[in-house]
This record gives sequence, C-alpha cells and structure tokens, in this order.
Amino acid sequence: MTSTRCAACKQLRRRCPSDCIFLPYFPPNNPQRFSFVHKIYGASNVGKMLQQVEEHQRADVAHSLYYEAYCRTKNPVYGCVGNISILHQEIYHLEWQLAKVEAEISLLKAQAQTEAQLAQGQQVELSPANMLADKNGVYSSLLSSFDLSTPSLY
Ligand SMILES: [Zn+2]
Repeated sequence: MTSTRCAACKQLRRRCPSDCIFLPYFPPNNPQRFSFVHKIYGASNVGKMLQQVEEHQRADVAHSLYYEAYCRTKNPVYGCVGNISILHQEIYHLEWQLAKVEAEISLLKAQAQTEAQLAQGQQVELSPANMLADKNGVYSSLLSSFDLSTPSLY
C-alpha cells in the first residue's frame, strides 16, 4: 500500500487514494518535483489548480507549476520571468545582428549592381538601395526600420 503512494501523499504522510489528483503527475520516484511545487504554492493550492482544468490539460499544469516553482526556488527575485527576460534579450540581440547582416547584404548587392552598370557604361540610377550607405558608411535608413529599443519585462 505505502509503496504506491504518490510523491505528494508520501511527503504529506497520508493515504494515497486510487483517484488521487496528484498521483499521475507526481510519481513516487520523483519526490523533488512535488517538493518544489509544495514549497512555493502549497499542496492544497496545487490540487485546486489541477482540478480547475480538464484532465487532458493537467499534465501541462503540473509541468508548468513545477517549472515555475523550480525557477522561483533558484531565483527568488525573478523566478521564471528572469529566464524569459534573458531569452528576450537574446532574441533582441540576434534580431539586431540579423538586421545588420541584412543591411550589409543589401549594401553589397547595391554596390555590385552599381559596379556592373558602370562597367557596362550605363548611367547609374539612384535607387533606395544605392542610397543605403550614408556619408559615414552607416546603414541608417535600413536599420532605422527595425525597433532597436531594449525590451523589458519590468
Ligand atoms: Zn496521492
């Protein structure tokens, strides 16, 4: 009997009924998983949150509660929001790099086109791509189309 108790009932030192709400999501072989959610939310609240959703969604609820509780334990100030913020910063940085590379590609294409036209003795038309580089060689017109402000969750 005691060997089939879920991690929650084991930790709370109570009998685990066959229809225990925790049993499918907090198996006895992973007591840490329940410890995190119990510490942050309390067993009663976790049980209520599981009961509030359809049965097919409960595994996701248990997993997200575990993840949030785990992050909150590791980072008491920001919790998983800290991870989200770090990932937002990475996305912002990569988008900025991508915009820069795309601007460089556009500039090189425009330069190659201009050189090809000059080699053929054609008159060079001023297209927006030809005007990308300003006097300082900064690709300001293309880069300005991207929002380079730093995202913040706080
Ligand atoms: Zn149980």
